[in-house]
Amino acid sequence: MLPVFLASKPLAVLLYGAPGSGKGTLGRLLGQVTAWPHISTGELLRKHIAAGTSAGHASLGILQGSYAPDFVVNQLVIERMGQQDCQKGVILDGYPRTLDQTVQFLPVLGGFDLEPILVRLNLDYTEVKVRLQARRFCSSCGAIFNLVRLPPRIPGVCDECGGGLVGREDDQTELMDRRIERYTNLTEPVADFLKSRSVKTLELSGMDTPSGLTQSLLAHLKDLSLINFTHSSPNDHS
Ligand SMILES: [Zn+2]
Repeated sequence: MLPVFLASKPLAVLLYGAPGSGKGTLGRLLGQVTAWPHISTGELLRKHIAAGTSAGHASLGILQGSYAPDFVVNQLVIERMGQQDCQKGVILDGYPRTLDQTVQFLPVLGGFDLEPILVRLNLDYTEVKVRLQARRFCSSCGAIFNLVRLPPRIPGVCDECGGGLVGREDDQTELMDRRIERYTNLTEPVADFLKSRSVKTLELSGMDTPSGLTQSLLAHLKDLSLINFTHSSPNDHS
């Protein structure tokens, strides 16, 4: 019998790590175990850009390696979190990214009755660069692959939907240095601020495999008594 996942309270897992550290993959795997939605700010913004919405128009800079304006991102994430599927828990990937976003967002989390947990994926920058250059995205469903760490079963083809895989331009160029630098400059104060507000922090090594990372994150959450696994099924009345 498969273990049944239980959370003792609704959690908001905030995933932090440099671009390419594996937080997107970790978010997706964690989402499969918990059934909590994995909300990637980058994906959310790219959808709006593709759909030509006003939020998308305001965020066009992300295609050149800049970040979208805080008020646009705040509004999109808060709207998304108001949906029914986020009530039991949520995985946020890439948000809050700036101190301003964080200051706005903490009271919102409180309003949704979600307890934030900061999860940091630590990875050396040389490794970050190597990984970014090996990263591929499905042009149809957005699934992420890595030619070294998580190669697709058939080269160039998405395992999930059969779509074509493409590299992202901002992973391949000198924009990378800028993204890594901005990540460090913007995100460090966020982590410090969250710690100062007594938000629990978990540190993981980005060198671990995607499934290893998922298992250690679940083990840490279990140690904190935030989640548990039971082997009883709904048919057990003992
Ligand atoms: Zn796909």
